[in-house]
Amino acid sequence: MRLRTKTRLIRLAAIAIAAPFLMLAESGKATEQVPAKQIFGGIELPSRAAPAPYGFYSKGCISGAVALPTDGPTWQAMRLSRNRRWGHPQMISLLEQLAHDAPKVGWPGLLVGDVSQPRGGPMMNGHASHQIGLDADIWLTPMPDRQLSAQEREDLPFTSMLRKDKFLTVDARLWTPSHARLIMLAASYPQVERVFVNPAIKKKLCDTWTGDRSLLGKVRPIYGHDAHFHVRIKCPVGAGGCKSQAAPPPGDGCDKSLAWWFTAEPWAKPKTDPKKPAPKPREIGVSDLPKSCLAVLKAPSVASESEVTLGGGATPVAAYAPSTAAPPTAMAGQPIDVTPEEIPIPLPRPLDR
Ligand SMILES: [Zn+2]
Repeated sequence: MRLRTKTRLIRLAAIAIAAPFLMLAESGKATEQVPAKQIFGGIELPSRAAPAPYGFYSKGCISGAVALPTDGPTWQAMRLSRNRRWGHPQMISLLEQLAHDAPKVGWPGLLVGDVSQPRGGPMMNGHASHQIGLDADIWLTPMPDRQLSAQEREDLPFTSMLRKDKFLTVDARLWTPSHARLIMLAASYPQVERVFVNPAIKKKLCDTWTGDRSLLGKVRPIYGHDAHFHVRIKCPVGAGGCKSQAAPPPGDGCDKSLAWWFTAEPWAKPKTDPKKPAPKPREIGVSDLPKSCLAVLKAPSVASESEVTLGGGATPVAAYAPSTAAPPTAMAGQPIDVTPEEIPIPLPRPLDR
């Protein structure tokens, strides 16, 4: 089954599950048996409330999220069917600022990937973080000089910047100085806390970046992230429920912590006892999230997306309508942030996300 279709089916299933859950939640008999990702994945609109992230990037939710318009003068949002263009107003503003500044560094415009779900929370597929409206993915493919149709935004394949025939090496035929300038531009905003890229991309920047080296420390190596990079902003000032992440260590990060990625260790299969089956990871329930997240789920919705869409200034793309056209290439629906299957399962590691 095409992943695009699968994503839609997952969302429909999630909506079917979320609706009765929310009724139970209204009556005070919230069930904990339903995984949080199904509940959050099934909600179409944000809560009508002041914007507030609750919890941590990889465990939380957001109230009062706003939407990135599908189109701006120098951006186009991708994979619209996922309904993940939602974020804290500061995240959406940052994306619009980055899109505005990108042409100055030779990048024509942004293809924007996932931000968060309307009320944040865990997702059915794709990400560990992106839960509190303060994370966003940006493609390492420049925006084309025409408006993509909604269908094209579903089908456009991801382009990895890595060589397929060589371990952890940026493909010199694909990588350009404007890729580097765009990533470093993203890192330059004071509200940006971290930028995640593939270790090979971090190494490329370490080897070639001649601008402000102190900003390189914000650019953190991590699995995947070879066709997109990930921008994370700090907890907004005054957001009491938002759990901050420790600042990245001082220095440019072009050190042992990067060299580790080029050893076998991070890519080795975890050692398991063949006699004991691996324990099934426990599903995250709503009660595992900050207490405020139940209230976020129960809160009334805004009336419509357009009511809480921030900025814009370009004609939005026609609504997403699945077609029966030729199937997309194999990579088209690959979820962002998921480690490709051919890479061995990594060991537990000093996690950054
Ligand atoms: Zn991401």
